[in-house]
Formats: sequence, C-alpha cells, structure tokens
Amino acid sequence: MSERIRRLEESAHRIRRYALDMGEVQGQGYIGQALGVADVLAVAYRDQLNLRADDPEWPERDRFLLSIGHYAIALYAALAEAGVVEVSELETYGSDESRLPMSGMASYTPGMEISGGSLGHGLGVAAGMALGLRHQGNPARVYNLLSDGEIDEGATWEAAMACSHHGLDNVTAIVDVNGLQADGPTTGVLRTEPLVDKWKAFGWHAIRVDGNDIGALVDGFDELREHRGSPGVLICDTRVGRGVPFLEEREKAHFMPVAEHEWAQAREALEVRA
Ligand SMILES: [Mg+2]
Repeated sequence: MSERIRRLEESAHRIRRYALDMGEVQGQGYIGQALGVADVLAVAYRDQLNLRADDPEWPERDRFLLSIGHYAIALYAALAEAGVVEVSELETYGSDESRLPMSGMASYTPGMEISGGSLGHGLGVAAGMALGLRHQGNPARVYNLLSDGEIDEGATWEAAMACSHHGLDNVTAIVDVNGLQADGPTTGVLRTEPLVDKWKAFGWHAIRVDGNDIGALVDGFDELREHRGSPGVLICDTRVGRGVPFLEEREKAHFMPVAEHEWAQAREALEVRA
C-alpha cells in the first residue's frame, strides 16, 4: 500500500472516531451515514481540496457544499481532521451556543459553505458558485456532496443540466449511494438506477467507485480533477455504519438508534478493526 493511501486510511479512521465521540456527547446523531461517508471525506479533505485551515474564507479555496445538512456530524469530524476546527471543540456538538449544531448551518461553522437540510438545493448553488468563480477567473473548484435520496429531487437534475450546458468543469458532484433515505430503502421509494447512465445522459463525466475503498476514491477524484470540458460526478457506493461491524449489520434506518452503552462498544469495535 502506498504512503498516500495509508495516510488517508488513518484520516478516515480518525473521522469515524470523532463522529462516534460526538454521537456519544449528544446520545444521538446520524452516525450510520457518518461512518459510511468517512472514507469519501478523508480523501476530499486530506488529499483533494485546496484549503487553508487557518483561513476558511480564503477566496481561492475549493468550496465543499454539504447539501445533506444531517450529515453535519460527519463534516465536523472532517473539518477537525483538516484542522479547520479544533478537535477539542467537537465536545460542544449539538449544545446551545456551539458552532457545531446538529444540522449544517453556514453562519455557525467555519468551513460550512451552505446551510443544508432542505434537500436538493446543493447542486444548484454549486452551479451558481462555479459560474461566478469562472467569471472572476478564480481557479477554485466547487464540490457538492449529495445523497442518493437527493437524486429524487427535480432540482438536482435541473442543476445537472445547467452545469453541463455551461461546461462547468470546475464542478464535482459526489453522490453518497448508501441505498437509504428518510422514507426507507431507496429502491422502494423511487427507482434511480442506472445512475452512471443518467449522469452521462445529462452531459457529465461519470465515474462509479466503492466509496469505502480509499484507493478507488483517490483514482476517481484524480481523474475528475484532470477532466476538462464538462462537469464530473463521482458516484460512491458506501455502507451505512462502515467500520463498526455491529452497526453495519443493524437493521438499516435513516436515523439509526444507538443505545447509551453502545457508543463505547462502537469505539472499541472501530479500534479492533483498524
Ligand atoms: Mg442515502
């Protein structure tokens, strides 16, 4: 294994641990999704994004838009791993006066570019930002992490057409395909496959990878960063609860219940697996 991959696997491990720590503080959190997307965030924040940890508003920073506000716990863990927020601040997660509310809020948290939670709007914002950056001659890239549930939203596809129409090769969409959304398994809510064919039909350079395979993620992100002439999408198949076997096997639920005593068990299980 290369040094690059080994270093990123360690980052993903810390992101999972930080998310479990925050979940234990509040006794709740969208931990299944956070564990599932940790590898994607590790590669984004420690390998791909051009950021300055001590200057979150640096004009040439790459923008990372989290449209899925309930994944905030995962993004805070990644921001801590990237040095944008202090690891010690994670203890305040979800408490009054904290900069780390349970749903992502742009005005609260350094590095949180948009407020999420009303789903399906991230890609539209990304399109506008990317047009503006190009107009200004700013080399920054715009990333939008969206969920497979957001693929149901018409606005997502309107934005996909706009990005393609304007040839926005400074946009990268990342779709977390965990097979689950608030109303249940995605296959039972609305059929969205075949995803690669759909994005291609909308004019995107589309790649699909195992979203829990760091090496595959690095290759996919690298390819999209080099691609020119059209926007790119990295479709990431992830596993809810990844890294904690008893959570991976738990019956899938959008809001996975974790009993008070299980947080410590989950942390131990994560260390055993590492
Ligand atoms: Mg989902």
